[in-house]
Amino acid sequence: MEPTIFERIINREIPATIEYEDHEIIAIRDVAPIAPVHILIISKRVIPSVNALSAEDSALVGRIQLVARDLAKKYSIDKSGYRIVTNCNDDAGQTVSHLHFHLLGGSPLGRMSTQDGPTRFGIVKESVILLLCAIGLATGFNAMNSKSITWVKKEYERVVASPGDLDKYITDTQPTTPLDTAAERVSKPIVPTVITENTKPPTTPVFVAEPGVVREITYAQFKQLLASSPYYLIDARGADKYALGHIGKATNFYGGEIQSRIPELLASAPRDRVILIYCDGGECELSHHVADVLKQFQYGPIFIFTGGWAEWEKNR
Ligand code: AMP
Repeated sequence: MEPTIFERIINREIPATIEYEDHEIIAIRDVAPIAPVHILIISKRVIPSVNALSAEDSALVGRIQLVARDLAKKYSIDKSGYRIVTNCNDDAGQTVSHLHFHLLGGSPLGRMSTQDGPTRFGIVKESVILLLCAIGLATGFNAMNSKSITWVKKEYERVVASPGDLDKYITDTQPTTPLDTAAERVSKPIVPTVITENTKPPTTPVFVAEPGVVREITYAQFKQLLASSPYYLIDARGADKYALGHIGKATNFYGGEIQSRIPELLASAPRDRVILIYCDGGECELSHHVADVLKQFQYGPIFIFTGGWAEWEKNR
């Protein structure tokens, strides 16, 4: 059997810096130190690893610990601290099958480390802890932020209004005076017209409640509804953008924080009018957030002007 590298050192076949030696133990400087003090305390008798120890070896192992302790004192790391460690087999990274203990010290060692640095388990564990901390901080910050983001992007059903969808809401003349105060809005009785099979089609279109109906509309359709339907207009953009300019008598309900303004929204939005909503245009996420809440409370019909403020400005 090939002699181990440590046997060859013990036999003076290859050089090493010897720190201690007696009849059964030798201590040498590690050739590739991972700490300012890195000494190997080696059993002279070849014992492959801790696995091969027997009860008779108790005194030897005990003496190895004492040699390590004395070397720690010699190198003045006994007060600051040190680590005595032995590796056994592959998962521990044992490279020399000849019982030895590493004495490590001289600088903070952190948590358990091996010749290759922190163990993979240690890295994963610390990464998970860091990740959890980051998630915790982000969640807390998000919860405290009035413009908090939703964690999962909600997919809304996007139905485009057909021309026929709008006809019933469009009258020849503006049917109602604009709503000016929330008090007026909530005091108005809600009398939706319900069309049944026996109901004759009205000669002039009237408001027809369609709870939960949400449709996306074009600029032309939006203009048409503004001109001749009983409507309630919502600007779903942020208050800063609303302050810089908005369409007509739009009321501002920012879609990003609509969940915290539901009572206000319900008190403000009448149920006997077509609800029109716009935001910046495009995906219309903000408008859909507001529409979704109104839909849940059986408002309808609700129309989202998908061109939004961008298209409105372009056509002014
Ligand atoms: P282990 O990986 O726990 O088996 O430890 C073996 C150690 O022996 C490693 O830290 C090596 O750097 C060290 N080593 C290998 N060859 C020599 C050598 N010729 N002189 C001193 N240390 C050595």
